[in-house]
Amino acid sequence: MADAECPECAGIIALAANVEVGEIVSCPDCGCKLEVTVVNPPAVQKAPEVQEDWGE
Ligand SMILES: [Zn+2]
Repeated sequence: MADAECPECAGIIALAANVEVGEIVSCPDCGCKLEVTVVNPPAVQKAPEVQEDWGE
């Protein structure tokens, strides 16, 4: 079990022991989407917003 810090709200994000680089996790505090960039030590960055621009 490892923890990373949310870059948005500095909240602690619990990561699974088998988390992999590139996984998308959600911050339990602010709800933003974060991408795992490093696993040892664990670090995350804000995941790019997926723009659903399909011209609905
Ligand atoms: Zn957060």
